[in-house]
Amino acid sequence: MSVELKQVYKAAVVGFGGMGSFHLQLAKDIDRLEYVGSYDIKEDRQEAARQAGLKTYDSLDELLKDDSIDIILIATPNDVHKDIAVRGMEAGKHIICEKPVTMNSAELQEMIDASERTGKHLFVHQNRRWDEDFLTMKKIYDQDMLGEIFAIESRVHGSRGIPGDWRQEKQYGGGMVLDWGVHILDQALLMVKEKVKKVYAVLTFVTNQLVDDGFKAELTFESGKKFWLEVGTSNFISLPRWYMLGSNGTAMIENWGMDAKVVVAKGKSEKDIVPVVTAAGLTKTMAPRREDTIHETVVPIEKSNIKEFYQNVVATVDGTEEKVVKLDEVMRVMKLMEAIFESAEKGQVVDFE
Ligand code: NAD
Repeated sequence: MSVELKQVYKAAVVGFGGMGSFHLQLAKDIDRLEYVGSYDIKEDRQEAARQAGLKTYDSLDELLKDDSIDIILIATPNDVHKDIAVRGMEAGKHIICEKPVTMNSAELQEMIDASERTGKHLFVHQNRRWDEDFLTMKKIYDQDMLGEIFAIESRVHGSRGIPGDWRQEKQYGGGMVLDWGVHILDQALLMVKEKVKKVYAVLTFVTNQLVDDGFKAELTFESGKKFWLEVGTSNFISLPRWYMLGSNGTAMIENWGMDAKVVVAKGKSEKDIVPVVTAAGLTKTMAPRREDTIHETVVPIEKSNIKEFYQNVVATVDGTEEKVVKLDEVMRVMKLMEAIFESAEKGQVVDFE
């Protein structure tokens, strides 16, 4: 039996702020998907949407009643994602929801239940799995370029503190675990395909006391592998974005958009090590390697295409593909964020899977 596909899926934005308006660019040139409408609680954002050529609605209800809209993008602060998503699916719309999908795993379960009940899709924009630095490190990991990997560090450092908008307030789902943690945790779980056995985390409150403005977390995987994750917003000098340690070598990516530097041992034994002498002493252990015992290469940054996210939305609604960002993956990241909060609050390692 042939399925009759809709010519063009019509989409509307709810929350036409920074990210909501950026989605118009993300979806530009996507075959058979078109943003046509918008609703925001702020009049200046309604005006901005009209300027961008969208029809604006006076209320969410009015938008939900419009039968010509197939898909709703939710790009509001995090606290209202769940209600808008559930109401949207009950009104017959597919949902694309910004990250973090919602505030906690219980709310996410309500959203998943609504999707199953209504038969409407819930897509989650965990877009940083298309980040090229991540894909480059994942390639180094997957191709065993460094021998047995025993530790990976992934961090993002900025120096502007937490943004001065709703991200500073807990009730709106502010804080850096929910904001940036979701991205780097999603990447970590896509890279190391093992159970996470233990989680330990510390939150920082350097620039405000209400929500975390950064965190450090240690994940211990089933094999004993460690993944250290960090978000910092008071870092005027940034440490490398990625640092990966294997039994035979090390890889590093300094910053977004950069190639990876890889150094591996050549297998030659090192005799006659020349010690490093400092003002206070001498060390052979920390002396640099002799050039002929190592091999240094560059792994060029992988190229990605973020358009795949929207192409997958269209194909999933058509029924010809499965979602790229799977809801069980989204749930696992959400539960990991909860484990981070729990560990930080108790000051203890917590068991995870
Ligand atoms: P923003 O403050 O710039 O925009 C939010 C907009 O939502 C505002 O215009 C606000 O008036 C509107 N709004 C608030 N409550 C509303 C409601 N009940 N109904 C309709 N509109 C409402 O915030 P932002 O930076 O665009 O973030 C929005 C969402 O996008 C957040 O969930 C955030 O985490 C996410 N985000 C994702 C990425 C990414 O790379 N995936 C990047 C930035 C932001």
